[in-house]
Amino acid sequence: MPYERTNIRQLAPYVPGEQPDIPVFAKLNTNENPYPPCAAMLEAMCGINAEALRRYPDSTARAFRHAAAAVHKVEPDNIVATNGGDELLRLAITTFAEPGTPIAVAQPSYALYPVLAGIHGCSTLRIPLGDDWALPDRFIQDLCSSTARLAILVNPHAPSGRLTDVGRLDEIARAFRGVLLVDEAYVDFVDPALNHDSLPLVSRNDNLLLLRTLSKGYSLAGLRFAYGIGAASLIAPLLTKTKDSYNTDAIAQHLATVALTCRADAAATWAQVRRERDRLRAALAERGIPSPPS
Ligand SMILES: *Cc1c(COP(=O)(O)O)cnc(C)c1O
Repeated sequence: MPYERTNIRQLAPYVPGEQPDIPVFAKLNTNENPYPPCAAMLEAMCGINAEALRRYPDSTARAFRHAAAAVHKVEPDNIVATNGGDELLRLAITTFAEPGTPIAVAQPSYALYPVLAGIHGCSTLRIPLGDDWALPDRFIQDLCSSTARLAILVNPHAPSGRLTDVGRLDEIARAFRGVLLVDEAYVDFVDPALNHDSLPLVSRNDNLLLLRTLSKGYSLAGLRFAYGIGAASLIAPLLTKTKDSYNTDAIAQHLATVALTCRADAAATWAQVRRERDRLRAALAERGIPSPPS
């Protein structure tokens, strides 16, 4: 006899990307950064003091939150550190979505969102993207006429790579009477020439939560470290009520803080990924295979 709750029994599980044991030329099937983490990472790992592991980690990752606040020119109260971006998604759902209500997402997007919604006893309201992968004009109308109180948008979009501009996100956040979570897992890779910066929206919209992760941009998917940026009033319940007391471990906190100090090394990989993208796109076009701007 199954003992799970009905919604768990009925849930179609998320299938994580395959992690093959065999050496492969370039493993990219879960969108890892193909370049290694910065050189300071190895040094920092070797410098870890085993004796310090006797104690519990700082429960809110204060040193990391101070470092991230300095990078983004916000306050530590605007930051919550999490065990990967996936934990932030789960926390946001736990904190902001009433069980039984829908969680709004664009269709298609990250396949984990509906699974996390289902675990929490929420349905998923899927708002289809246009043929050009853009949010449809009626997105705000569809969202605001629904009973959803949490919406999750991935920007740049996965899987298409399309970027929604900051003005549009501002418009959505302002119109929506719920929390807008913008999953910026890939934002580091946006061409700096576009001057895309969603941070100013945080001070204007107390319902906007940005997700940042070290998994892709910093080549640290194995570390499991990410963070949310939002108004202090939005971050406070995550930080003090819904996250596990020790959701990020001492080693990860230390290495994540070091990673932020080598942003310039990470940024060199972002530029390299963009160059390779352009090369791939051109090679595909030469063979008559079109690809949308990414
Ligand atoms: C990779 C990814 C995340 C977060 O991954 P973590 O490794 O848990 O930080 C979130 N959203 C999207 C769309 C992703 O591709």
